[in-house]
Amino acid sequence: MPHPETWLKVLPQGLHCEPGGFFIDPLRPVARAIVTHAHSDHARPGHDAVLASAETLAVMRARMGDDRAGTVQQAIGWGEKLTIGDVRVWLQPAGHVLGSAQVAMEYRGSRAVVSGDYKRVPDPTCLPFEPIGCDVFVTEATFALPVFVHPTPAHEIARLLDSVALFPDRTHVVGCYALGKCQRLIALLRQAGWDRPIWLHGALVAMCHVYEACGVRLGELRPATAAAKGSLAGEIVLAPPGAIADRWARRLEDPVVSLASGWMRVRQRARSRGVELPLVISDHADWNELNATLDEVGAPEVWVTHGREEALIHAAAARGIRGRALRLVGYGEEDEAEDPPAAEAAAAAPEPKTEDA
Ligand SMILES: [Zn+2]
Ligand SMILES: [Zn+2]
Repeated sequence: MPHPETWLKVLPQGLHCEPGGFFIDPLRPVARAIVTHAHSDHARPGHDAVLASAETLAVMRARMGDDRAGTVQQAIGWGEKLTIGDVRVWLQPAGHVLGSAQVAMEYRGSRAVVSGDYKRVPDPTCLPFEPIGCDVFVTEATFALPVFVHPTPAHEIARLLDSVALFPDRTHVVGCYALGKCQRLIALLRQAGWDRPIWLHGALVAMCHVYEACGVRLGELRPATAAAKGSLAGEIVLAPPGAIADRWARRLEDPVVSLASGWMRVRQRARSRGVELPLVISDHADWNELNATLDEVGAPEVWVTHGREEALIHAAAARGIRGRALRLVGYGEEDEAEDPPAAEAAAAAPEPKTEDA
C-alpha cells in the first residue's frame, strides 16, 4: 500500500495527485484542477479542466465569467465516485460555504482526504461537514490556537439584535465577506426572527443572487444605496469589511460599526479596525472543532496547511497522530483566513467593483 506522501505532493502550482494527474486548488493555471470551494484563493481562473461541486462551479462562473472558470467544467455529485487516471475520487461536504467540498482520493488501497476550508457548526446556507475515515487527513489550521473557541452563532446574532433594540435611532452596519459570511449572517438573522428587509452594499448583491438561484432562501434584500437619506435608522446593513469604516458607511445614520469574523475574538483586532460591536462568527473550524475532527477521521497522520500549523501538530502528536506542516503558500487571501489588518490594505478601494477586491 503506497503511503500518500508518494503520490500526493506539494509542487509550485499546489497539491498534486500524481497518479490522477490533477491538482487540488492550484494556485496557477493547470491542465486539470479539482476545486474545493469558490473563495478566490482556492478557485483561481484559467484552468483547462475543472472538477467541482455544481454550486462551486456556479459561484465560479458568476465571479469570473464562464470561460475563465475552466475550459471544461465538470460538476460531480456528493459522494459520486469517479476514476481519474488510477485514482478513485469523490467529494463530500465541508460545511464552509455553499458548495464547499472535501476531496477524497483512493490509490492502491491508501486513502487521503483534503478538507479544504471547513467548520463543524451547523450553517443554514450549506451542507454539513461529513467526516471520512482516511490514512492521511489534510486540514486547514486558520484558527488552530487554544485561544480560538468560537461562541455559538445564535449567541452572537442575539448580541446584534439586542444592540439593534437598544439603539433604534442608529444603523447597524455589519462587515462580512461577500461569499459565505454574508449569506450566513442573513440566514442566521432570519432564523432568529428578523424578518425586516436586510440592506446590502452593492458588492454583496451578486453573490446573494447566486445563493438564491441554488435554493438558499434569504428573504427580502434591498440595495443600501436605494435607501432615502435618514431612512436606515434601526435597520441592519451588510457591507464588505473594507467598507464599514470608510466614507461609504459615514452616510448611514450614526452607524454602529460591527464585523463578523473569527478574528473578533482578539479584542485589539476589533479596536484597531474601529469595530464597536465585534461578532465572533467564523466559517472556519475553531480549536475544539479542529481537534475533534482529527479524532473523528481517525487518520494516523495529518498534514496541516494555511494557518497556525505548529500548535495543531503538537496537539495531534500528544494523541499519537503524526503531523506534518505542508507550507503551501498563497492561501488565505479572500475570506477571514486572512488577518483583518492585511485585508484592510487589500480593500483600499472604497467601493470595490468585485467581491475579490
Ligand atoms: Zn475559504
Ligand atoms: Zn482557505
